[in-house]
Amino acid sequence: MEKLIYTFHEGRSENKDLLGGKGANLAEMTHLGLPVPQGFTITTECCMNYLADAAFFDEQLKAEVLKAIQSLESETGKSFISDENILLVSVRSGAAFSMPGMMDTILNLGLNDLRVQAFAKLTNVNFAFDCYRRLLQMFGDVVYGIHKEQFNVLLHQTESRLNKKAADFNEAEHVDVIELYKNLFLKNKVAFPQDPMEQLFEATKAVFKSWNNQRAKVYRDLHHIPHHLGTAVNVQSMVFGNSGEESGTGVVFTRNPSIGDNKLFGEFLINAQGEDVVAGIRTPEPIESLQTILPEAYNDFIKYSNKLEQHYKDMQDIEFTVENGKLYILQTRNGKRTAKATLKIALDLAAEGLISKKEAIMRVSPEVIDQLIHPVFDTEKLITAEAFAAGLPASPGAATGVIVFTAEKAKEYTALGKKVILVRQETSPEDIEGMVVSEAIVTSRGGMTSHAAVVARGMGTCCVTGCEALSVNETSKTVLCGSHTLTEGDTISVDGSTGSLYLGEIPTIVPENDQSLQQLLTWADECAELKVRANAETLQDLQTAIDFGATGIGLARTEHMFFGEERVLEMRRLILAKDEQEVQFALNKLLGFQQEDFYQMLKTVQDKPMVIRLLDPPMHEFLPHDTNEIKSLAEQLNRHPSGVEKQIEQLQETNPMLGHRGCRLGITEPLIYQMQVKAIFNSAIQLAEEGLTVCPEIMVPLISEKEELDYIKNFLTETIEATFKEHQIEPLPYEIGTMIELPRACIIADQLAENADFFSFGTNDLTQMTFGFSRDDIGKFINVYKEKQIMQQDPFQVLDQSGVGELIKLAVSKARQTKENMMIGICGEVGGNPESIGFFQQIGIDYVSCSPYRIPAARLAVAQAVLG
Ligand code: PEP
Ligand code: MG
Repeated sequence: MEKLIYTFHEGRSENKDLLGGKGANLAEMTHLGLPVPQGFTITTECCMNYLADAAFFDEQLKAEVLKAIQSLESETGKSFISDENILLVSVRSGAAFSMPGMMDTILNLGLNDLRVQAFAKLTNVNFAFDCYRRLLQMFGDVVYGIHKEQFNVLLHQTESRLNKKAADFNEAEHVDVIELYKNLFLKNKVAFPQDPMEQLFEATKAVFKSWNNQRAKVYRDLHHIPHHLGTAVNVQSMVFGNSGEESGTGVVFTRNPSIGDNKLFGEFLINAQGEDVVAGIRTPEPIESLQTILPEAYNDFIKYSNKLEQHYKDMQDIEFTVENGKLYILQTRNGKRTAKATLKIALDLAAEGLISKKEAIMRVSPEVIDQLIHPVFDTEKLITAEAFAAGLPASPGAATGVIVFTAEKAKEYTALGKKVILVRQETSPEDIEGMVVSEAIVTSRGGMTSHAAVVARGMGTCCVTGCEALSVNETSKTVLCGSHTLTEGDTISVDGSTGSLYLGEIPTIVPENDQSLQQLLTWADECAELKVRANAETLQDLQTAIDFGATGIGLARTEHMFFGEERVLEMRRLILAKDEQEVQFALNKLLGFQQEDFYQMLKTVQDKPMVIRLLDPPMHEFLPHDTNEIKSLAEQLNRHPSGVEKQIEQLQETNPMLGHRGCRLGITEPLIYQMQVKAIFNSAIQLAEEGLTVCPEIMVPLISEKEELDYIKNFLTETIEATFKEHQIEPLPYEIGTMIELPRACIIADQLAENADFFSFGTNDLTQMTFGFSRDDIGKFINVYKEKQIMQQDPFQVLDQSGVGELIKLAVSKARQTKENMMIGICGEVGGNPESIGFFQQIGIDYVSCSPYRIPAARLAVAQAVLG
């Protein structure tokens, strides 16, 4: 038979699966020679055996528990049965993964009507009866489900009847309350067992059962903790912080958990038990005061807390009790901390030589970095805030402002100095100017890669998408959500990190420019193999990306260059042109605009590589759809509205995302791509003349067939060479590559590689085309998929390794068969997802590219992918 019970001397911290976190830690501390009240741990396997078959307890476990108690009695020199030298124990749950407060605990086990008298003589009446009352209450609650509050009511009734507090009761009055408590058991058709062993057996079974209580199950689901692990049960001799003025109890962090300073942070209460510190009835004193009140215990505490930090090589959260001047350590664990403290502690521990630089890198999660660069809500104020809806956490950060429903209103209000939140069903490229000025963007439709999400992340603007509970009416300027009706000008607060929306204003805390972050990221860069580039095209985004440490630009989408009033008119003129002259007129205009843009973009990026993607969206995205707009366009083009309307109608497509877009446009309308490369190289030449050599990487979207790429590359090269000739200059360096964003492109990657200088995986479209999920509509059902456990994650956010990932892997290996050293990147949204980055490292990708505000976290993630 396997071992069912381990004393604290027998276990070690690596036995966490069997002994639970708490049991393993108590054993480890015992091993380190710390003053831990002794006891034993009943394994998690016993829990699962008992839950599978209750007979296991009587048939196998009972005898072992009895033996363990006997050896605890001999070790402590106390007795669990007799009335002399009384041993009391606590019974606590403890799973392998921390589940704070989810399962049950019973203290002071072993007291009964007789032993309480003896215990009173040993200590004092008040203390002894206080312990006994607590036992009856916890036992009643945990073992028999009699609600704690029912016991409190009885105590309060007695206190009012006698007109004094329990602490002032005489023995007879204490006994009266105990009788009332026992009667409450009887009313519930159960009896409180007087036999200490019986108490221990029942308490153990109840703790086993608490593994399956509702709140524990929900907690496990939430934190992805498997349900088959079970909880261990720790039986530990009690020490009493409430046995006089030389006793006390406290909780201390070895470093400051909110700012990370290397200074003890914690508090204690004299003459109190653990719960009193938590209950907040008495105000605890700062830990430093213990030095004057109980200097010996304080000095011991310092000695042991240092030892624990050195041993665990991390900030510890320690619970201690002093019993008649003697210090006991009850528990230690790695302390929870804020993002700021996480970073500072990791760097300090490395500077102190306790951990290596590499360990420091592994200690900080990429999510922590996100919190350090975006504003967050003041957590204290958040507690009282009223959340009225939730959507997808599309772009992190926190913001407050007044609701507006249109880009125009956003601009108008911000010009008046108001902070605005743009609320829409969904956004489109035309909303860009309104999006730029908004504090946050909220949409009722769309997923994590919808237009709003992608643009907001790029700008570092807080954004919640797919908030289906909102019914947004942009015409009446109202948004309905349950019983709430909000109108333009109402104030709301948006948390882009959780997806929650709140009524009214919540103050935010803006992170400072943190030197420590620079330090950690510099260390990360030293270990990383994958490079991190940025998806950026506006000058501001390009600059932000460079400031955040991007090694280049992995995707500059050029479609934004066609929006803005003047530009879209020329684009529309081009699309609807009736003759060659009109085409040339529009192209010349667009060339001028783009040339100026590319010049500025390339100048910002300097000699870093920059992938410029040629026009991608379907044509009709540039055309107006409402009658008034069509009318005014017709006027501007000097045409009849019905003719324009008809042309627009003809351009409509049933499935635009599968339609006339990307390279297909390049093939049917080569003049657009030619104009774009001309603009790029006119700018590159101008910069070269000014002494700056840039290396544009031209990228063709949506290729699915080798001939498509060959055809386009051919005319692009001709245009580029002609441009050099025209300027009479030596050819400048450049590359022409393709996006891989269709399953077919993955399968024929070896052929595509023959004529491509580089590849970049567009995982947004590749995921869309592989699953057949529309990237703009997945928000409608992905939550149901997650709830029903059909999918664990949104594949547009976290790479689907077994499907889309396999396609990418295949394409990489095929491409490398053709061109061993071909540069291959990832520019879809999952490129910035830390969970997916490990996979990209494994399959030999060269760089990931993500929106500027995701770069710091990605720099850390690429280092962790090497180290982890
Ligand atoms: C992609 O499809 O992953 C991509 C980067 O291109 P876009 O999002 O512009 O379609
Ligand atoms: Mg794409």
